[in-house]
Amino acid sequence: MKFVYSFNEGSKDMRSLLGGKGANLAEMTKIGLPVPFGFTVTTEACNKYYEENKKIADEIVEEIHEKMTELENVTGKRFGDTENPLLVSVRSGSVFSMPGMMDTILNLGLNDETVVSLSNLTENERFAYDSYRRFIQMFGDVVMEIPKSEFDAIFDGQKEKVGAQFDVDLTAEDLKAVIVEYKALVKKFMGREFPQEPGEQLMEAIQAVFRSWNNDRAILYRKLNNISDKLGTAVNVQAMVFGNMGDTSGTGVAFTRDPATGENTLFGEFLVNAQGEDVVAGIRTPKPIKEMAESFPDVYKDFERIADVLEKHYKDMQDMEFTVERNKLYMLQTRAAKRTAVSAVKIAVEMVNEGLISKEIAVSRIDPNQIDQLLHPNFDEKAEAEAEVLAKGLPASPGAATGRIYFTASDAENAVANGEKAILVRQETSPEDLAGMVAAEGILTARGGMTSHAAVVARGMGKCCVAGCSEIAVSESEKTLTIKDAVYKEGDYVSLNGSKGIVYKGEIKTVAPEFSGDFGTVMSWADEIRALKVRANADNPRDAKQAVEFGAQGIGLCRTEHMFFEEERIPAIRQMIMAETEEERRTALAKLLPFQKSDFKAIYEVMEDKPVTIRLLDPPLHEFLPHTEEETKELAEQTGLSYAKLAQIAEELSEFNPMLGHRGCRLAVTYPEIAEMQTRAIIEAAVEVKQEKGFDIIPEIMIPLVGMESEIADVKATVERTIETCLKESGAELEYLIGTMIEVPRAALTAGSIAKEAEFFSFGTNDLTQMTFGFSRDDTGKMIKEYMDKGILADDPFQTIDQEGVGSLMEHAVKQGKQTRPNIKLGICGEHGGDPRSIEFCHKIGLHYVSCSPFRVPIARIAAAQAAIKEKIAE
Ligand code: PEP
Ligand code: MG
Repeated sequence: MKFVYSFNEGSKDMRSLLGGKGANLAEMTKIGLPVPFGFTVTTEACNKYYEENKKIADEIVEEIHEKMTELENVTGKRFGDTENPLLVSVRSGSVFSMPGMMDTILNLGLNDETVVSLSNLTENERFAYDSYRRFIQMFGDVVMEIPKSEFDAIFDGQKEKVGAQFDVDLTAEDLKAVIVEYKALVKKFMGREFPQEPGEQLMEAIQAVFRSWNNDRAILYRKLNNISDKLGTAVNVQAMVFGNMGDTSGTGVAFTRDPATGENTLFGEFLVNAQGEDVVAGIRTPKPIKEMAESFPDVYKDFERIADVLEKHYKDMQDMEFTVERNKLYMLQTRAAKRTAVSAVKIAVEMVNEGLISKEIAVSRIDPNQIDQLLHPNFDEKAEAEAEVLAKGLPASPGAATGRIYFTASDAENAVANGEKAILVRQETSPEDLAGMVAAEGILTARGGMTSHAAVVARGMGKCCVAGCSEIAVSESEKTLTIKDAVYKEGDYVSLNGSKGIVYKGEIKTVAPEFSGDFGTVMSWADEIRALKVRANADNPRDAKQAVEFGAQGIGLCRTEHMFFEEERIPAIRQMIMAETEEERRTALAKLLPFQKSDFKAIYEVMEDKPVTIRLLDPPLHEFLPHTEEETKELAEQTGLSYAKLAQIAEELSEFNPMLGHRGCRLAVTYPEIAEMQTRAIIEAAVEVKQEKGFDIIPEIMIPLVGMESEIADVKATVERTIETCLKESGAELEYLIGTMIEVPRAALTAGSIAKEAEFFSFGTNDLTQMTFGFSRDDTGKMIKEYMDKGILADDPFQTIDQEGVGSLMEHAVKQGKQTRPNIKLGICGEHGGDPRSIEFCHKIGLHYVSCSPFRVPIARIAAAQAAIKEKIAE
């Protein structure tokens, strides 16, 4: 087996073996672009390293040596040579790009001797020693795990000592002094000298990259992005080129289009006389790439051409890293660029129009989870115009955010855990801040450019971010944000406009977004492609209207209980619960009927001809009773019953396990008059709206929590009897369906018999998951998180369908249901109906629709299309 590939041996199709970076370096080499030569140690070598107890196997070491010799021959330099030393970079490169998660070492091969040769060769002593101190610093940080702050303290100390404002103000002599201190620091921490032998440096660095696959940041990033821990990372070893060789050199990062807006123009930043990480780390604020046309006109032309070649070659927007060494351009990386939802949508549409990609590819490139960004509110224009501008920074990631300021990632996390909205304010962010960035509404940094860590990560997450806001002063230790003369403390409100880069004082009102233009185009393509229909879970006309605006094709679940909680209705429902005789109960129900009927009419009117599934009452009755002493007293006054009597009723109704108690269809079995009232409301409302508005309404009456055929038969008889009476009374004709939820495992197992009674199944995967795992929906959140942290669960089964368990029950039920009733209608209305991976599963097992909350409808439309595209490709 081969574990190491030269750049001229690979291609972009070898991603799983070479990692994304390695595969693309090979591809660029293959198509003749200027890439410094090198080789890639494969992901399989990384996995073998872990299999063999964190040791690189001898055969792999052997291969690496062979490739180093080849690299020496190609470059005409020798590793560790005192005349013409070869220096290399060592970088990680996993299969999926993980920005800022893994570590890089530059200038490897430098030691006390080769630094002198480098100085002589380049006739630039300052450059040589700057390279050496960077190398010791990166190696110390990444390989030896010495805190970065220790190196920073030495470096900043030297700057202060000689009165240097910028890093570049330090002379060669200053840097030599820094190196002496760096080496002393290494000795102190490691108890050994900084390794002088380049071969040893290389093997240690490769191992460190392998190790970094399992650092906390990398693990968290993988978890957030559903990337398997088993993939491993490749390591790229590449001949160094230097962007810090003076004013004819530089380094930069650029995108073939604007990753924030999608505009078709080269977008990026570069720094003269700087090396790799300077741009990304946000230590110096870089210049816009277009200015390169002035300082490096020929190089810029060349770069424009290469960018165009790459975009056409990959048929996607590229994110590129390059270095200019003495006016010669070298490409160091290219990859599909991360982008905001706005730009993803614009680019997808334009690339189809340019004839570069098909509609299917365009749709499959939209990250359904990112669509959220387009659905969430922006600032109310008027409120924003009136707000006080505190400062302006870079528009690093679009959107609007309002919240209280916090100065550390953990403070932001804690605040969010306590129900606050947080804005994370940092000098600059680093990968350690990831969890805080996830929790925050928005991110504000004082330093760093458009490609700084904060900007890149925020865009990837679709989080509003204002970066490089140099007008603000952040003290992380004092927890203060100073703007001009005003000091803002932890907990103060600010608002951010990430599209404009503006920081406002206080809270700002937000408004809902619009759904036309490119977004509408992509959604219409998704609608052409998908097989699954998308409905919404909505209990009131407002949500129903929102759902239709988002493209819902019906209501898959209308939970009727929510309607009873409104102020005018709760007394009637309480009276119904406390009734001691059927007659009393009927009197109370009669009061509820008009409310319920008008609710349904309003929903039908919004939904017009689209199907509406209404579920009969589901929760345990005591949920409607007062919870406090005061409320109970109030109710006693209202009803004329004694406090003691009310307390007794509440006592009688209370249950140890209400979620497994007297709820769902069990209520309708015990109190058929409740089901009668609800059925009457559903049917009378439909008849009236049909007559008044002419819509073709076919109500779908859904019986919840059924576990047995005899159970649904009992409730169905009540429902049918009521419908007959209603229709006889009105003399109208109406089509309707009666079906059930499949949310009790027994129902899934006996779906064949249940389908004799049910005209449709809707999978209630919330309860089905609860009962299949025996995990309480309401009590196990914390425990599930622990299970995920320990790797016992890969995903939260309440968010993503557990295909192996719950999913196999669903598949069984689908098969059995269809056997009994070939034209049975099949859907899902649990939370999973809005989860892209679950939607793909629903497509696979042949459901007809998914139903989810209104805001997830567009996500579901895209995810459903992607499921269909995936299936087509697999065929
Ligand atoms: C379900 O159980 O999946 C469901 C949709 O019903 P509810 O969440 O109301 O119990
Ligand atoms: Mg349920």
